Amino acid sequence: MPLKLYGLARNVNISDKDPDMDWKSITDRAATRMFFKELFKGYGITGSYLFREPATINYPFEKGPLSPRFRGEHALRRYPSGEERCIACKLCEAICPAQAITIEAETREDGSRRTTRYDIDMTKCIFCGFCQEACPVDAIVEGPNFEYSTETHEELLYNKEKLLQNGDKWEAEIAGNLKADYLYR
Ligand code: SF4
Ligand code: SF4
Repeated sequence: MPLKLYGLARNVNISDKDPDMDWKSITDRAATRMFFKELFKGYGITGSYLFREPATINYPFEKGPLSPRFRGEHALRRYPSGEERCIACKLCEAICPAQAITIEAETREDGSRRTTRYDIDMTKCIFCGFCQEACPVDAIVEGPNFEYSTETHEELLYNKEKLLQNGDKWEAEIAGNLKADYLYR
């Protein structure tokens, strides 16, 4: 139906029917034109939203809830003793569909196997979560942090030190999320 701007101009479509000329139709049309019925209806709808619960939040001062399964920034975890969890099995590297993970490893004097290099190119990562799923010791995880935007590409090339720092920083939240989700893993 063509837009009709009452009182200013009117688009006339040749398929429009002639307006009804009974008194009720005439007075309805007159009231609509004289009192800007649609305009006030619009004001009413707009005004009603002033008194409703807002659908948005005032980010970054307010933050919404996150699922325990949220897949954010990567982190490498340690055991409570401070020892790295990662045993350099390279399952995460093998399963990563984006080939974002690079691992080099060696055997320590005590016979344990540990990484000497653990890099993630965060600009290649597609946040599929496969690395976390594949890890037998819950070492590599996608934590709850989503605020890690950078100004340069290089800052998103994470090395082992950065990933361990993330693990140390977010351990409490990560452990809580893994615990909340353990029934489904
Ligand atoms: S989340 Fe997926 S794409 Fe990203 S590093 Fe892990 S396996 Fe690779
Ligand atoms: S993070 Fe997990 S899956 Fe990846 S190499 Fe270490 S132990 Fe293996």
